[in-house]
Amino acid sequence: MSSEASSDASSRLAPGLYIVAGPIGNLSDLTPRAAEILRLADVVAVEDTRVSAKLLRHAGSDRPMIPYHDHSDERVRSRLVDRMAGEAVALLCDAGTPLISDPGYKLVRDARAAGRAVTTAPGPCAMIAALTLSGLPTDRFLFMGFLPNKEKARGDALAEVMGLRATLVFYESGPRTGKSLAAMAGVLGDREAAVAREISKTFEEVATGTLLELAERYADNAPRGEIVIVVGPPSDEPVAAAEEDVDAALLDAMARLPASKAAGEVAKRFGLERRALYDRAMELKEG
Ligand code: SAM
Repeated sequence: MSSEASSDASSRLAPGLYIVAGPIGNLSDLTPRAAEILRLADVVAVEDTRVSAKLLRHAGSDRPMIPYHDHSDERVRSRLVDRMAGEAVALLCDAGTPLISDPGYKLVRDARAAGRAVTTAPGPCAMIAALTLSGLPTDRFLFMGFLPNKEKARGDALAEVMGLRATLVFYESGPRTGKSLAAMAGVLGDREAAVAREISKTFEEVATGTLLELAERYADNAPRGEIVIVVGPPSDEPVAAAEEDVDAALLDAMARLPASKAAGEVAKRFGLERRALYDRAMELKEG
């Protein structure tokens, strides 16, 4: 859908799906084009009507809203896709860019499968904003979304990416921040990191340091508000691992994994021999 095709002089939008990014805390970050789409759409699919009502008011839109989640009834989605044949359907989430840790992917998938026009009014996204604020390398990064709550699943998710030469970006909540940073340090090693909080709002703040420093800072002092954690890639320099660091990593991994797997995970992280680490794991286990 070209921008010419998406609206005309009579202020009607061409039929199709419009993915509309909203602000992540500062209403002024709503782009003029996003506001225009919200004013002209035939219907706006939203996560939460109360949250989006505020944004629609700000945009001067009186368009009707329909609650939509990817786990909504299939019929809600297929009705929206049907409507896109002749109407403009805007998709909005509670904050930032739809589909990014937010609903929308199945709607886009089904709209495309049905041959509907799909376009976007791009805008704020906490992941990108935090990455740019962090001072960490941006040439290659992986968005990790929210880590699982359960300790084993969280450790497994981190172990899966520990060898990647990429900056990692995590969404987080204030109360979980300290624990997550400590878990990251345990599995990924004590890398450079940043905790970005309340981006674009009055109390925007970015704390930088190593994962252990940040874990300590937030251990008994949970940060308030919305949080993104950015973790730098592993160091290029092979570091001689201190024995106690290896033991701590082994104990951490053995709390989640059988000894052989724990030895494999730690061997990969420190570039050490798996067999020797397995033997050490057995010693630690025995006491
Ligand atoms: N779709 C959104 C986006 O484009 O960033 C993300 C929605 S996700 C459900 C909510 C998470 O995004 C929060 O828990 C937090 O990790 C992050 N987030 C959203 N707004 C933020 C802000 N202003 N400052 C820091 N993190 C934010």
